[in-house]
Amino acid sequence: MSAINGGISFWYATDGIPAPREPLPGDRTADVVIVGGGYTGLWTAYYLKKAAPFLDITVLESRFCGYGASGRNGGWLYNGIAGRDRYAKLHGQDSAVRLQRAMNDTVAEVVRVAAEESIDADIHQGGVLEVAYGPAQLARLKAFHHAEVTFGEKDRVLLGARETAERIRVSGAVGSTWTPHGARIHPVKLLKGLAAAVEALGVTVYESTPVTEIRPQHAVTPYGTVRAPYVLRCTEGFTASLKGQRRAWLPMNSSMIATEPLGPEVWDAIGWAGRETLGDMAHAYMYAQRTADDRIALGGRGVPYRFGSRTDNDGRTQPATIEALREILVRFFPQLAGVGISHAWSGVLGVPRDWCASVTLDRTTGLGWAGGYVGSGVATANLAARTLRDLIQRDSGQSGPTDLTALPWVDHKVRAWEPEPLRWLGVRGMYAAYRAADLRELRSPRVATDRVARVADRVAGRR
Ligand SMILES: Cc1cc2nc3c(=O)[nH]c(=O)nc-3n(C[C@H](O)[C@H](O)[C@H](O)COP(=O)(O)OP(=O)(O)OC[C@H]3O[C@@H](n4cnc5c(N)ncnc54)[C@H](O)[C@@H]3O)c2cc1C
Repeated sequence: MSAINGGISFWYATDGIPAPREPLPGDRTADVVIVGGGYTGLWTAYYLKKAAPFLDITVLESRFCGYGASGRNGGWLYNGIAGRDRYAKLHGQDSAVRLQRAMNDTVAEVVRVAAEESIDADIHQGGVLEVAYGPAQLARLKAFHHAEVTFGEKDRVLLGARETAERIRVSGAVGSTWTPHGARIHPVKLLKGLAAAVEALGVTVYESTPVTEIRPQHAVTPYGTVRAPYVLRCTEGFTASLKGQRRAWLPMNSSMIATEPLGPEVWDAIGWAGRETLGDMAHAYMYAQRTADDRIALGGRGVPYRFGSRTDNDGRTQPATIEALREILVRFFPQLAGVGISHAWSGVLGVPRDWCASVTLDRTTGLGWAGGYVGSGVATANLAARTLRDLIQRDSGQSGPTDLTALPWVDHKVRAWEPEPLRWLGVRGMYAAYRAADLRELRSPRVATDRVARVADRVAGRR
């Protein structure tokens, strides 16, 4: 059986693409206009409207809410945040610890709101298990574990090969680290529930309405302009398509496959009763979940980046990428060698030049934005949204500074990516280096991280 390729994502292929909402009917005004109907845009609308019900809030979405990464991701609702270590260097360890604590609380916050709004998103709070293959990955795993504990995660544990297998029998895994700060979710169920909750609060959502230009107090579309004192850009991996943003966050591609539903005999062999989200310590890492209908959905990096910051074609994925992901699946679980892959899809995430997520409200122009989450945006978008709410409340005199407005990722500045073809060459080269390093590490008894991967990290601006 060949996989259904694209169709936005497996989550939509099985849960259905919703009926489209109306496009913008002409020029409008609002108090706040939000560009992009993913988690960032919708959570921001949600928290702002809850805090200030009198606000007139409009969301403009180019396709339909959840068309982007929010409708395609791996469903890891977890406490990782891109850039924490750099924020520790820039602002001090205490400041980064506060950011990490806020992220830990964010996982619980999403679970709380989903329950309060009666959103059934197949949430299972099984934590996150990250496994190591071979000595170099194990050394990185231990260093990673130590760093996380240093950042306040006292409840994180380090597991040996046997204890790892008691949770999930990943073939060849030599150890793992587990944190309770993570949950498996169905991304699209969360997205659809959130969009419905936002509309029920009285936020106006227009779909099929691409914003072509954002400037102070204006969001310009082919159907009219929405004028508002605050214009918030929540376009993550699509940001480069906006006028003047071509070298802002780079659209990095991530691809996924889903197996057919697996029978009880397979689960007896694999374990995974705790439904932890599962990852590894490779440079070109993988991520996976056991879905509510008992498939494995597994992702990783295929074609990392398209020339000229192009995005994608409704999730269509190259056959070579599907095969590479299937090989990872079978390396992890050799008993799945003959199992059918039912779906394959891809999406884009936003990568800033320094790989640091950030939230900004420019108080002189009223322009704001949040994102650059790299691959960790499911929970982070919620923290970003509550932070944008607080920044707007402070700017409009409705409240003062808060714990969130003092976090180190607020108003962080980052330089632009290099022009093409340097951007394309750099990202392609980086992932080629990572893949080669992963292979060398798997074959080597050395514990040190491969030198080429370390150089690639430095050149890419990740370290
Ligand atoms: C395959 C994949 C797997 C991932 N897995 C995980 C995971 O397991 N855990 C995790 O934490 N993170 C994961 N991520 C990242 C995470 O999904 C994203 O960081 C998060 O969804 C970003 O949300 P967002 O709302 O900022 O962006 P998006 O969800 O991309 O939303 C942006 C929206 O803006 C709209 N838009 C774009 N341009 C315009 C415009 N000009 N005008 C109007 N609207 C516009 C788009 O159509 C889109 O709906 C994954 C990403 C991908 C691609």
